[in-house]
Amino acid sequence: MLASRDEAVAFASFLKITLLSEEERQKELYNAKCEHEIADETVMIDEVQLLQQYIQAKFVRYTNTYIETFFHAKFGLHIKITGAGPVLHACRCCNYKTLAEVCAYDICPVCFWEDDGTSETYKYSSPNRMTLSEARANFKRYGVVEERFVAIVDPERMMQYSPGTGDDQPGIFPTFAP
Ligand SMILES: [Zn+2]
Repeated sequence: MLASRDEAVAFASFLKITLLSEEERQKELYNAKCEHEIADETVMIDEVQLLQQYIQAKFVRYTNTYIETFFHAKFGLHIKITGAGPVLHACRCCNYKTLAEVCAYDICPVCFWEDDGTSETYKYSSPNRMTLSEARANFKRYGVVEERFVAIVDPERMMQYSPGTGDDQPGIFPTFAP
């Protein structure tokens, strides 16, 4: 079966939501509210729509290969995605292509480095409270920039994004080998 990239993203997001346990659903909803800064519980929001948007925004950044594998592994579906995968920038810490923009203070979903534009490896990064060099060492050791994040990361995250070539970035990139 063939599907366009947009169709595949929408369908995979819908299927992903059906796989969530109630606990996972609440966790994702909480993350979605944090991202949209909806802290006030009294504000009326459409939680179904918010969750759909939040999950879909994740799938938009995943590679075609990962989404095809998701369809097959979870639902036994053989879907070939037509059209190019996402165009994203490589994280300066882990080198996975996770960022829609650079220097936008986005948090990398693979290693949790906050992209504040730091590229000098030994310069202290305030939002990350460490240098890029330290972050890369932690990534190599833990798969994330701080050990405390190990418990909350998505174990499939390194399959969801493609690695960068490293050509456009200074320094040597670490490889996480658990
Ligand atoms: Zn990263």
